[in-house]
Order: sequence, then structure tokens, then C-alpha cells
Amino acid sequence: MINRLLQKINRVDIRKFRFWIQLLFFIVFVYGGYLAIDLGREIPVFSCGYNRETGGVCYFMPLQHQLARPWDRLFSMASIGVLGAFLTFLLWFVVFNKAWCGYACPLGTMQDWITAIRKRLRIPYSSYSESDYKFLKKIKYIFLLIVILFPLLIGAGLLDGEWRAAFCKMCPGRLITPLFVGDFSQWSIDFSSNTAIFLTTFGIAFSALFIVGSFVKKRFFCFYCPMSAMHYVFSPFALLKLKKEGDKCTKCGDCYRVCDMQIFDIADDVVSRNILRDDCILCLKCIAACPEEDALHLDIVNMALFRSTKDGFAKRMGLEKDLFDER
Ligand code: SF4
Ligand code: SF4
Ligand code: SF4
Repeated sequence: MINRLLQKINRVDIRKFRFWIQLLFFIVFVYGGYLAIDLGREIPVFSCGYNRETGGVCYFMPLQHQLARPWDRLFSMASIGVLGAFLTFLLWFVVFNKAWCGYACPLGTMQDWITAIRKRLRIPYSSYSESDYKFLKKIKYIFLLIVILFPLLIGAGLLDGEWRAAFCKMCPGRLITPLFVGDFSQWSIDFSSNTAIFLTTFGIAFSALFIVGSFVKKRFFCFYCPMSAMHYVFSPFALLKLKKEGDKCTKCGDCYRVCDMQIFDIADDVVSRNILRDDCILCLKCIAACPEEDALHLDIVNMALFRSTKDGFAKRMGLEKDLFDER
């Protein structure tokens, strides 16, 4: 019974499957308020609380406010709620790992839709060179420092309270997700202080860059996303794992060619078993594109849930099985 189910999963058209799951999560997170859905304030993706109709709030907003408490309160029993919120975030994350990015994040989905429009218009996309890629991918860790360190410095009395939730003021999620419920109010500069002017101007520029950048580069913003960096820190505890059997890999590069995040190791590394890298969005396109039996698989607690197979590859690519038998 389980084997038959796994065989069925394995023949799934991952492109269509992703489209529908992404659409479902987009509706939940962007319009959930209209449907009385409330998944809480510890959601491990950019489901922005500035959208008044959101069905669940991005964890970064409460996290920044909670960490900005004065240290004598933060490190006391009074902060048991902060710990509870963190554990809820962790629970959400541990179950799905980075699949939150590939299947649930509204900002990720928007980037995929912008890519689809670009494809329709037949505009070629660009890729980063290897050296640019290595440099740019570090930016997300700087943003993560802003999310965590700035509130802590405020709590210690070393930074002005205006920097509280500094990342939210810069984040494209704050400006772009409310647009989908007709709210344009976030697209304005706050002139109340120099800090507010700087942060809100940065937010507008970053959001404009999000839209333009996503048009020329697949998942443009995800390379810089601090949530992705935070995910990676906790991914060793996650139940879903992306695994590779190096001895079955021929380094054909098919997986790398379909990877929106330019993860070279997915094709090149034949040593690591755990092949999930910090930029991975667990979209599973690499597994679907791999023609080698079991070379790549998605495991849940050591059971292969979705794996690369010749049959599956042939079905997904619309080819006949005989083609592979003849190779
Ligand atoms: S990496 Fe992309 S998909 Fe993941 S949380 Fe960030 S914006 Fe969303
Ligand atoms: S502004 Fe960005 S980081 Fe802040 S809650 Fe909204 S999506 Fe999350
Ligand atoms: S490595 Fe695979 S699962 Fe990760 S982003 Fe690339 S194609 Fe998607």
C-alpha cells in the first residue's frame, strides 16, 4: 500500500503540483483574513503582518519586537512567551524544512509568477557568475544580523528604539503583499526622523528592485533573504531532507540546469549525502530532472518520499521508457 502510494508520488508532475500548492498558500497567506484563517504569528516565511488580511504572520515581525525588550526582562521568566513563540516557529519549520520557500512563501511565489511572465515575453534571464554568486549570497546573513542584533542592542540601551523592526521597514514583503488587497499605504516615506527617512526610502528602493530584479533573475530576492539564512541554521533539525547518492550521479548537470538558485553542488558534489545548501528552496525540480535511479531523493525520517527514477523522469519529461532502456 505504502509502496504504491510512493510510486504514485514519484510520477507526480512536480511543476503542476507546485503551481497548485503555491496558489493555495498564496490565498491562505494573502487573503486568509477574508476567510477567517489565522495560522498565528510564527510563520517561517514572508507572510507579512502589514497586510491586514494575512492568514498568518511572518515570524520576523514579532521576533524583532520581542528581542528588543530590556535585557533584564528578556532574560527572565517574563519572556517565557518569547521562547514559546520561537518553539512554535521551530515546529512549523522542522516539519517542512525549506519547502516553505519552494511551496508556501508568498514572496517566493510572486517571484515565480514574475519569471513565468518573463518567459511568456521570451525575455532571456540572467545568471550570476560564480564569483558574484559567492559574494552576493553572504548578504542574507548581514540582513539576519540586522533582524537579531539590532533589537538586542536596543534592549541593551545601545541603539535608539527607532531601529526596532528595522528589517521590516526595509523588507519588500511590507510594501508588496498589501498591494494584493488594494492597500498602497506602505509606499510612502516616513519623514518623522532621519532614521525613518533612511529605512522607508531603502524599503521603497528594495521593493522596486525586487520587482525589476525578479524579472531578469529567477528568485532574485531569495538570494538575499534573511529568512532563508535562518532556515539554514535550523535545517539540521528538519524532518524533510534533500539527499544525494554520489556513486549514482553521472554529473550530467540536468539538476543544476533546472535549479533556480544556481546551486552548483547539486550536480558537482558527489561526496556529501545531505545536499541541501543554504540557498536551496526545496522546490524538488532537481529530483524531477535527474534521470539516474535514486541519485537524488527527498527523505522524511530516512524514508524516500520522492526520488529520481528513470521511469519518473521519462513520465515527467514526456518520454518513453524504452528510450532509457536503449541507452
Ligand atoms: S528565501 Fe524566498 S521563498 Fe524563502 S522566505 Fe525568503 S523570500 Fe520567501
Ligand atoms: S515586513 Fe517583511 S520581515 Fe517584516 S513581517 Fe513583513 S514580510 Fe516579515
Ligand atoms: S537544489 Fe534542487 S531543490 Fe534546491 S533549489 Fe535547486 S532545484 Fe530546487
